[in-house]
Amino acid sequence: MQLLKDRIVKDGKVRSGNVLKVDSFLNHQLDITLFGEIGKEFKRRFADQTVTKILTIEASGIGIACIAAQYFNVPVVFAKKNQTKNIAGDVYTSQVESYTHGRIYDIIVSKDFLKPEDKILLIDDFLANGAALIGLINLIKDAGATLVGAGIVIEKGFQDGGKLVRDSGVRVESLAIIDSMGTDTGIVFRD
Ligand code: 5GP
Repeated sequence: MQLLKDRIVKDGKVRSGNVLKVDSFLNHQLDITLFGEIGKEFKRRFADQTVTKILTIEASGIGIACIAAQYFNVPVVFAKKNQTKNIAGDVYTSQVESYTHGRIYDIIVSKDFLKPEDKILLIDDFLANGAALIGLINLIKDAGATLVGAGIVIEKGFQDGGKLVRDSGVRVESLAIIDSMGTDTGIVFRD
């Protein structure tokens, strides 16, 4: 998606640890006009699929998922991150290691909001090592729901997540795939 790639080049900042900062439009200040275009593009790419629900993970995925959901006309469910081991109630849970914070979280979704008849589209801001996405996929499996695919805004193609998830048979549509990035070399996208 050229509009997104141009924005990443213009406003993205490469940080140590292979972290791309996109706080000015995606992760802190949110460019809702751009989010609208992102939502339309996800709808275009998954136009052949029936989607009944979008699933994402707090916090950065929520805004993107909500705008995308307007084009699919479906509800959004977000997995909550929980650091305690004492999870009460009727929930699906899975463990995720946070890429940016290096911590392990339990993620939880109430059993009320993931049902076997659901056809789920996953949406997230970044795909790096795949831990977040795999955690979400596990929740869907536990619920017996159908996974339609995953829509990712920025995939860091030089990390393992994309291959891992695609090799497991999941359709992943990433709007910008970065093949390499460095403070000197800049950001190189896959075509
Ligand atoms: P993964 O679980 O695939 O390793 O990482 C995905 C999650 O980590 C995303 O939900 C995102 O919040 C965060 N993340 C991973 N890499 C980056 C990055 O380079 N920049 C930012 N801003 N977030 C990242």
